[in-house]
Amino acid sequence: MRKTYHIWTIGCQMNVADSRHLASQLESLGLSEAASVDEAGVVVLNTCVVRQQPEDKARNRLQSLKPLKKQNPEIVIALMGCMVGEREAETLPDEYPFVDFFLEPSKPDQLVEFLRSQCGDKVLPAMDELQDYHLPDSEENAVCAFVPITLGCSHVCSYCVIPYRRGPDRSRAPEVILREVGALAAQGVREVTLLGQIVDRYGMELEGWNLARLLHEVCRIDGLLRVRFMTSHPAYMDDELIQAVADEPKLCPYFELPFQAGSNRILKEMRRGYTREEYIQTVGNIRAKVPEAGINTDIIVGYPTESEEDFMETFRLLEELRLDVAHIAKYSPRPRTLSARQDDDVPPEEKERRRVLLDELARSILTEKNKKLEGETVTVLVEGFQQKTGRWRGRTAQGNLVFAEAAGTEDLAGRLLPVRISWAGPYSMIGDVDESKRI
Ligand code: SAH
Repeated sequence: MRKTYHIWTIGCQMNVADSRHLASQLESLGLSEAASVDEAGVVVLNTCVVRQQPEDKARNRLQSLKPLKKQNPEIVIALMGCMVGEREAETLPDEYPFVDFFLEPSKPDQLVEFLRSQCGDKVLPAMDELQDYHLPDSEENAVCAFVPITLGCSHVCSYCVIPYRRGPDRSRAPEVILREVGALAAQGVREVTLLGQIVDRYGMELEGWNLARLLHEVCRIDGLLRVRFMTSHPAYMDDELIQAVADEPKLCPYFELPFQAGSNRILKEMRRGYTREEYIQTVGNIRAKVPEAGINTDIIVGYPTESEEDFMETFRLLEELRLDVAHIAKYSPRPRTLSARQDDDVPPEEKERRRVLLDELARSILTEKNKKLEGETVTVLVEGFQQKTGRWRGRTAQGNLVFAEAAGTEDLAGRLLPVRISWAGPYSMIGDVDESKRI
């Protein structure tokens, strides 16, 4: 077996974290990242099935590996992520006989165990799903890292497949998380994003712990400059958590707070557990305590029975709240979910019309907000250098993407720098490092 690996990842940040975690384990077994999939001894597809489209992509990609395996039966192929729920792990092998391993989300153990036996029994840390995540050596200079803190989800929104693929929600132990973030900071990581499907439910089953307390502790860790958390559920976004963001200088004023729909009838059908009015109230609470907050949202259009009036309520909610980034998805029926039993009755062209209308609104809100930053100086955590443009790339605390020019040849990755914005578009900004304000 060639001692090289290739991991293909699609989907959410949790998948990105799982892939990095697996890569770090493979590297500790002596494997290195292959230059391309054709040169890899181990090929892993980390998949997403939250909508039909990413699932189709993953299945196409998987099919493309069939000839590779035929050509070289020694190649180890593993399918990982949300395509592989507990139930699917039983049926998928018949469908894809050329795949060697089917790994449930966040559980790469079987593959790692096998490779360990192939690689002369190297000693690896104990394996369970709550073990430490590390960055692979191939990402030695990473400035940002994701750290899962809750796995799975128990909310069971009517449309969502995640609980069926990732299982019920469970919080990782705070001491494991703190040790892991400490190790990442010692490795040079400057920003961590704590992850969970409903991250603000963290600690529900742990005596004396909640997300606010965990965030305060994480902010104490030396070397870290910034901390974020995502995705929040409006029903759990309490004053203590908002206050923590207001109080902790390292905690970014950044919220991922999906509302999904603006109509109370649809919200109820979706089983989201809050009303339009409660969502507005929560955004109000955030803005009262953290006026500079960037608030992003997810929205689904074309949910079964969504009328034009329902949709307009969604449109008006975004218009009224002027949230920052809106990720808009067209409803897609998913296996075993409650809503999949209903007729998917909003025609595709109507879903697309609604998506475009919302997208245009979101774009105009962002353009207007960002334009106000032209001429202003913002603080950017530099993540890397973009060869193509010769600019440094980084983000503001609110999550805005910034490209900055700087004099000199100093490596600025991992530094917090003042950048004076000269041009701002909806999705990125350009500026110059403001030498007069550099500390
Ligand atoms: N746990 C998070 C994110 C879940 S998945 C939450 O509670 O919001 C990310 C996004 O995908 C969701 O916020 C939703 O907007 C979208 N999504 C989930 N299921 C979907 C479906 N069946 N069809 C279309 N979009 C969906």
